[in-house]
Amino acid sequence: MSYTVDERGFYGRYGGAYIPEMLYPNIDELRRRYLEITEDPSFQSEFQSLLRDYVGRPTPLYLARRLSDVLGYTVYLKREDLNHTGAHKINNAVGQILLAKWLGKKRIIAETGAGQHGVATATVCALMGIECYVYMGEIDMARQLPNVRRMEMLGTTVVPVKSGSRVLKDATNEAMRDWIAHPDDTHYIIGSVVGPHPFPDMVSRFQSVISEEMRWQLKQHTGSELPNVIVACVGGGSNAMGAYYHYLDEDSVRLVGVEAAGEGVHSGHTAATMTLGTDGVLHGSRTLLMQTDDGQVLEAHSVSAGLDYPGIGPQHAHLHKTKRVEYVSVTDEEALTAGLQLARLEGIIPALETAHALAHLSRLEVGNDDVVVLNLSGRGDKDLATYLEHGESATSNT
Ligand SMILES: *Cc1c(COP(=O)(O)O)cnc(C)c1O
Repeated sequence: MSYTVDERGFYGRYGGAYIPEMLYPNIDELRRRYLEITEDPSFQSEFQSLLRDYVGRPTPLYLARRLSDVLGYTVYLKREDLNHTGAHKINNAVGQILLAKWLGKKRIIAETGAGQHGVATATVCALMGIECYVYMGEIDMARQLPNVRRMEMLGTTVVPVKSGSRVLKDATNEAMRDWIAHPDDTHYIIGSVVGPHPFPDMVSRFQSVISEEMRWQLKQHTGSELPNVIVACVGGGSNAMGAYYHYLDEDSVRLVGVEAAGEGVHSGHTAATMTLGTDGVLHGSRTLLMQTDDGQVLEAHSVSAGLDYPGIGPQHAHLHKTKRVEYVSVTDEEALTAGLQLARLEGIIPALETAHALAHLSRLEVGNDDVVVLNLSGRGDKDLATYLEHGESATSNT
């Protein structure tokens, strides 16, 4: 069984590049050159030194003793929250900005919903002195003003999108339009393992540094490179792919992906794509997505902006169909409680996205001697107000 992309850009029946004809030249250039460039030793050496000296890698693999005591098995946290800018997204942004330089691009575009990918992109563009435009729905700009200000301080132009419902999908359309208009000098940095081939494969390779480090770090801690279980939250799926990548062919390692159920899988306010999704085309690839019977994409809901996405990367759709990865979902309420618990037990405030993965730990069926690695995708400073609102009711009786 192969879990990686085939030469046509597919994972089983998912993936591909369903794009307007006008985008063929851009996608074709990337498809032809991404492997040759990213596997070049001098690309790798520049990438590795930026990951070390700028991003701060390797990130620690931390034995969470108090959390392990509560759960009754051993839990390690892979600390992606300690990366520069506070999450795993910077790994991919650094990789893609280098690729853009190798391709001779002079201008970067991106789209963002919550603003986190926009900030990561603005960061690497400042680092390289490359002009950057981030498309963002007007509604999202109002909701995520601190991230808009961060991008502006970093020298990026945030372009307000006034079309459609003025949210992420409209920003994606505008970014595509921009790319069509600037095929020669512009690279489009996509922030997760989504979009047309080769983006899903390219992004998962850049994020695979997470599981590459996990293998030798676990060996140092436990004497074995293999844990029993790896757990990660799944929005588009990039931190999870990074955490799974070097374990996909290790059959003894259980892989678990945690989606956002929002207010409940059947509440109508959810982002549980694996449970509710059906086959369709979203953002240029065939995948699972939440849609109506006549193919209208449904709006996703989650308390965490980073999981609020109606689709999922095509590789995850394939890993779901082949049952290599077990996908589960966690509600807003459960995630908030788990995030507060980690803060009190370990002195780590996790991103609300990550808190979904944490919430599943108490339901995992594992033995007392088992070792579980949780990918701590990001830090929770950005979510403080949401936690505090919830914490007042949850901790008033303790
Ligand atoms: C964006 C984000 C996610 C979700 O994106 P994936 O591509 O699924 O990883 C998860 N955690 C954090 C901290 C994020 O910023």
